[in-house]
Parts: sequence; structure tokens; C-alpha cells
Amino acid sequence: MAIGIESLTPMMKQYWEIKQANQDALLFFRLGDFYEMFFEDAVVASKILNIALTSRNKNSEESVPLCGVPFHSANNYIAKLVKHGCRVAICEQVEDPKLAKGIVKREVVRVVSPGLFDDLENLKTQEPNYLVAIGKKDNTYALAAVDILSGELIFGNFESHDDLTTELVKLAPRELITVGLEEKEQRSILLFFPTCRLEARSSGYEANFDLSIGLAYELLQQIGDEAWLFKILLEYASQVGVDELQHLGPAHRLTSHEFMAIDERTVQHLELLQSQTGKETSTLFWVLNLTATPMGARLLRKWILFPLLDLKSIELRQQGIAECLEDWEQTQNFIATASLLGDLERITGRIALGNAHPRDLAQLRDSLHQVEALRVQLDKPYKSELLQKITAQLPQFSALLPKLEQALVDSPPISFKTGGVFQKNYSAKLDELHALSSDSKQILAHIEQQERQRTGINTLKIKYNQVFGYYLEVTHTHQHKVPADYIRKQTLANAERYITEELKTLEDKILGAEEKMQRLEEALFIALREEVRQYVPSFKLAAQSLAHLDVMVSLARAAKLYHYVCPQLTHDLSIILKDSRHPVLERVLPAEKFIPNDFELNGESERMFLITGPNMAGKSTLMRQLALCVLMAQMGSFIPATYAKIGITDRIMSRLGASDDLAGGMSTFMVEMVETAHILKQTSKQSLVLLDEIGRGTSTYDGLAIAWAVAEYLATQTQCRTLFATHYHELTELESLVVGIVNYQVAVKEWNGEILFLRKLLRGSCSRSYGLEVARLAGIPEAVLLKARAKLQALEIIREQELPPKSQFELFNNSRHPGLACPGHRSGDPGSTMATNLQFIAEIKKLDLNELTPMQALTYLYELKNKL
Ligand code: ATP
Repeated sequence: MAIGIESLTPMMKQYWEIKQANQDALLFFRLGDFYEMFFEDAVVASKILNIALTSRNKNSEESVPLCGVPFHSANNYIAKLVKHGCRVAICEQVEDPKLAKGIVKREVVRVVSPGLFDDLENLKTQEPNYLVAIGKKDNTYALAAVDILSGELIFGNFESHDDLTTELVKLAPRELITVGLEEKEQRSILLFFPTCRLEARSSGYEANFDLSIGLAYELLQQIGDEAWLFKILLEYASQVGVDELQHLGPAHRLTSHEFMAIDERTVQHLELLQSQTGKETSTLFWVLNLTATPMGARLLRKWILFPLLDLKSIELRQQGIAECLEDWEQTQNFIATASLLGDLERITGRIALGNAHPRDLAQLRDSLHQVEALRVQLDKPYKSELLQKITAQLPQFSALLPKLEQALVDSPPISFKTGGVFQKNYSAKLDELHALSSDSKQILAHIEQQERQRTGINTLKIKYNQVFGYYLEVTHTHQHKVPADYIRKQTLANAERYITEELKTLEDKILGAEEKMQRLEEALFIALREEVRQYVPSFKLAAQSLAHLDVMVSLARAAKLYHYVCPQLTHDLSIILKDSRHPVLERVLPAEKFIPNDFELNGESERMFLITGPNMAGKSTLMRQLALCVLMAQMGSFIPATYAKIGITDRIMSRLGASDDLAGGMSTFMVEMVETAHILKQTSKQSLVLLDEIGRGTSTYDGLAIAWAVAEYLATQTQCRTLFATHYHELTELESLVVGIVNYQVAVKEWNGEILFLRKLLRGSCSRSYGLEVARLAGIPEAVLLKARAKLQALEIIREQELPPKSQFELFNNSRHPGLACPGHRSGDPGSTMATNLQFIAEIKKLDLNELTPMQALTYLYELKNKL
């Protein structure tokens, strides 16, 4: 921005200097009751906030863009900016304007950063809020993440950029620090998170953070050199004033041994958290989330994104869920109490960060009340190991809770600076000051009465303002009655204002008491907050334990409500499902009832289902359904089926639906091939792969060839379990050529020229795609359908003649049919055109080239051309 600093007013100069030190943030500059933004900040913020952009010194040459938001509602505006990936620096007046000589002193008192945002009112309750650092060191990609409110720390090392992206997408960072990544890598990552704030550090960047202190030291002890990205995260946090970090940890490593790998595309294709249309309904999370607490909902998200690999751990969860189902009365009691629990986890975070306000502590009190109630409710011997562990580790708050109940009023204000936080009898000194202040107010009322009687002025009033303090106000009509001991302070249009000695003495007493009261309340609150802070580890434990129980109860509720069954997990490669359903589709189908299906993949002789079937028959649904059942089973959840036996799956990979990635520079076919390449490279025998219509994005023969080769490779080389849906009916030949591939079809019935979708998966293959029938259902005009049918018939004749593929397609392209009067189309009899073409081909086939002289060949070609 080219401006002459000299030409600025002193206040704008002050702004300019503060802005220079906070260039990476939008500066909220406090002016009276507003926060103002200037220059580029105003342009950016006004657009995001949708507020008017005006200008300071409008008509002069030094006109400056300006926008502002009221101080009292600033939090909502800040939240909106943070959501858009902006950082906001709050600059306050730090001295009393009345006492200021010249320009009021201002300072940045707080920087609000998206990855460290802690405003509970404006955070999404069901989503975590991660600050993440990623980097590359010694050819290894690393990741470290922190959720500042829950205290969660995650880290991992990855061999490839793809593996890193897979994990990163699940964390959905709000703010990202990259270290040593190339510009291209950064751009490709940002495509996934358009509103994430990114800060890039160059390769070899070392955080200037003292590792010998507190948490950082412990981290170093725990994970050694791999803590290098955490150092960068902690440095970053402390730079914006977030340095109370004792509640963080322990750090959890993301490993491929512990969790099933689900790449970012599969998260999207299976619509785990967001539907393909971007909605949060019609997703697996939406169906399973019957949690009673916000921390339970957040944990459920994690269970969905990180299904387990360890059979024993999965069974522990299953046993917990089964017990919740068995003791349904207990479960219902839990739900009723837990619904009142609030967000204990995030309130704990605010307490740990030293930011809790009185309302947070009141919410803590209410939450602890429910925790105590739950402790009593759950005090019975559970059979399942997980439930036993949860109930055994629930901490007691029998000393703290009475203290909070005695201390705080029911609904305290947000700020502890305005008073009204504490109950009577909490502090004798505070009660004394209260009495003094309210007594004095009574005395004031008494003086007012007394002065009215003494002067005979019935309209005389005692009032208060910041400049004179308490004063007596008398209208001009009664001036002649004013006694001599009144001291005049101010003349107004219709009244005079006076003070008296008595009034001033009383004022000192009242104001002194109120000031003392305010200071005492502040001190009492800070002391209480510090005391409460000692309990942070216990709050964390309570919040985490109850979140676990909440998730198990939620899954039990889903199992009961939607008739799920407990799957048997095994170490072999089979997947057997009886009457399985798609968990989301069965909930949203409006009128049509969901038709269940069976699957039996044994991982060896039947490891790939090659599924053919008409359009709209339900092929994609079947594939998603199987994958969702496997994923739910490894979460520990029960699943939508009547019987299930599932061999543990290390990875689910999918290529479903068509999309392009224009911003990423990839066409639809390119995306299809990139995704297929990932699958071919990353899967193992324990993986589950879903492939829908591979090869459809290019010419028929290229597509068919690719689809054939991919199917063969997966069945013979990778040997993973695969569902492979296709409209290339030629692929069904693979069943007889490759061990492991079996043909399945999704059945339909033809009836009166219409098709009935039976939605049943049966052995065998389907020879037609019924594309035209589905096109009619979709409303394609009759004229187009007529033309298409004629073309189809032509193609079928050719196929029967068993002409070589190239001839078939030349013929197809050359044949002309009536029905559509398109400009440039020759009309003619389709039958005769077809016959002529066939005649030519037959003639050419008959030619013996060895018998022809060059001249004869040329003449023949000439004649042929003329005929054409
Ligand atoms: P295409 O080949 O055109 O992509 P498809 O065979 O993959 O089609 P799906 O997209 O799976 O078909 O299913 C089409 C619609 O059929 C679904 O949106 C759903 O409404 C319905 N459907 C699928 N399976 C079932 C089922 N088992 N029970 C009831 N309805 C179903």
C-alpha cells in the first residue's frame, strides 16, 4: 500500500505502526464502541462479513477504505472471519481515554487464529478444530496436530505424499503450517481445504522454542526426535499468546498397524461425513450419531474415520455395545443424564488455557453435577471390560462440586468484571461491601425524600453521571426555593445541577464500595478459576470416559432402532453377509422399501465379483453397502444385516462415480485413471476394492481394454477382495479365464416393454444394460429414443455378423437413420445403407491382394471411392 506516513493523522499513524507488527492478521482497531478496519483489511473483511465498505476522509486525497463492527457483537464477526481462514488481531485502548494525554494508548491484546480458536459459541460442536503442521525431513513426510480445546495431540510419519494427504484429509485442519513443502505440494493440499489458513516455512526451519520446559520436554521424552513438528506447533501457539499448554497430550501416533486405511476419495465416495452433494445429512455419521454429548459426537466421527484392525479391540467395543443393549433401562438412564452434560471436554480446554469466564465455570458446575449423577447411576458391576474400565475411572468431584455450587449464582454474566458472579455467603467481605453499597442506595433514596421535604421541591431528583458523580437536579421553575448550602455544578436548558457535602461523602462511600467489590469479585473469580484448574486432568478423564460410553450407547441405540446385527470378525479373507442393507439408503428411501442382499466372498476362489446389470439396478449401492458394513464392523459397531462374518480388512479403496478436478488440472478420465493407479499400487490381499465402471471415460475400446487389464491384475496379482461393476459385458468372459473372478448380476425383469428393478444380486451375468429404458425413465424425448433404438438395432445386427470390431464401429458411425431431422444429416433407408455397407465389407474381405497388380489395386480403390 503506497501511502505517505507523514500525511497521516496521529491516530492513523498509531494504527499504521500496530498494523506493521501484525501484517498477517486483520487488525480490529478499537475506536469507542466499534472495532474499525482500514485499507486492505477493510476491503477483505467487508466482503467476507457482507458489511458496508466506506472511507475515512471521503472527499480528500487521503481517503482511506474503512469498515467497522460494533464492539458488543464483535465475537460473531470474528468467528465468521476465522471460519474463512483469516487471523484477527484485537487492538484495544489500554488506558482510560479521560486520563490520556494526546492519542489513547492502544495495543494488540489477543490474536485469534483459526487453528487455535476457542469460542465455544462459534465452534461447530460435532467437529474437532485442528492446528496441523506438516513437513518433509530426510525424505519422510511428517504430520503433527493439536486440538487446543480437547488437548488431543496426533503425529505420524509417512513414506509418500499420498499417505500424508490421506491422513490430513481426515483431520480437516483449520490452519496448516507447512515446512519444506514445494509450492505444488502446498497447492494440491489446499485444494482439499479451501478455507484453511496456510503458513509456509522453508525447508530446514527450526523452531525457536525452549524444549526444556513443561509439555515440550515431556513430548520430547515420549516421542524423541519425531517431536520436531510439535516444537513448531508450540512455538506458533505461544506466538499468539496461547502458552498454557499443560493439558495437551499424550501424543497419539497414527500408524497403519492400528487403523484401517481409508483414503480421502473413499471418505468422499462412501459419504462418511458429507454427502456427494456437500450435505451433512444422508451420511454414515448422520445415521449413527445418536450421541447425547458433543464430545461423544466428535469421538464417533473419529471412530468412523479410524476403524480398527485389532480383532480383540473391536470385540471389546462390541461387548460394550451388547451390554448397553442388554441393560436397556440403564442405557436409557444414561442417555437422560448425559444429555444434560454439556461440552465438558471443551470447557475443560478453556479452563486449562486460562480463558474460562464465569459462564464457563457455571457450565462446568452443571456438567460436574451430571457426572456425579452418572457415577452413582453407573455404580454397578459391568461384565464387559470397556464398560468396567470406563466406570472405574470416572473421577469424583465431591469436594469441588459443592464449592462451585456455593460460589456461583445460577446464571452468571460472561464477564467477571461487571459483578454479579458470586452467591451470598460465599465471601463475608463481599457480602459486607454489597450491604454497604445497597445500604447507601437506600440512604440516597432517603436523602432525596428529605431534601424534597426541606425545600418543598417535589420534582427534585438525585441522579448520577460519570463527570459529576451524584448530584441534585432542580428545574428552573423551582430555582427560588434552592437552599444556600447547595453548590451549583451545571446549568442545563431547563434545570440546574447541584451537589452538597452530605451527598459527596455518601458518594465516596458508594463508589468506594463498588470499586472494592469489583476488585474483590475479580480476585475471587481468578482464585476460583485457578483452583478449578488443578482438576483439569480429572475433567479430561471424565469427559473422555463419558464420550466413549456415549459412543457405545449411540451405536447400541442405532443397532436397536435399525435392527443391526453383531458381526463376527475373523483373520481370514472371507466376507459373508446375509440380508445386508445400505445403512443410509435404507433410512432415506421415501416410499420404496430397501431390498436386502447377500454377499459371500471367500477371498480365494471368489475374491472378485464382476457385477453387471442395467443402469439404475443398484450396482453402486451394493458396492457401497458392502464397504460400509465392513467399515462399521471394524469400528466395533453392529451392522445392517441379519448375519455377518467379516475377515479384517486393512484398507478400503474405491473408484466410484465420475468427477473432474478442474482446479487440480485433471479431466474426468484423468481423475479416473489417477484413482485407479492409486488402487493398483496401494492395495494388499487384505484390502477391499470397489471399482465402478472403470474405463468409461474414454473410447469404448480403450476403456474396455483398461477395464479388462485392471480386473485381471487385481484378481491375479494383488488378489484383494474386489467388487467390480461394469457395463462392458465382454468382461464376463474373465470368469472362465481367471481364478477368483465370478460373475454376478443385479436382476431386473422385463414386463410390457418396461423394466422392473428387482435389486437382487444373483450369480451369472446380464447381457444388456437397458440404457434406453432407463433413458426413457429419465425423460429423454421420444424422438431421441427412436433414433437411439434404430442405432442400437443396427449395432446388434453387426454384432451378430461377427464383424471385426473396427468394421463394426465404422459401420456404426456411417449408418444413418431417420427419426431426427438434424442439419447436415443425410436421410435414407437405414436397411439399404446397412446392406450396402455390409456388401462393401464382404467385397473387400474377398479380395486376394497377392493376385492384384498395383494398377488393378488402384483402379479398384478408385471404383470403390466412386461407389461410396
Ligand atoms: P448405474 O449403472 O446407472 O450407475 P447402478 O446400478 O449403479 O446404476 P445405483 O446407483 O446403485 O444403480 O442405484 C440406483 C437407485 O436404485 C438408488 O439411488 C436407489 O434409490 C435404488 N436402489 C438401489 N439399490 C436398492 C435396494 N437394494 N433397494 C431399494 N432401492 C435400491
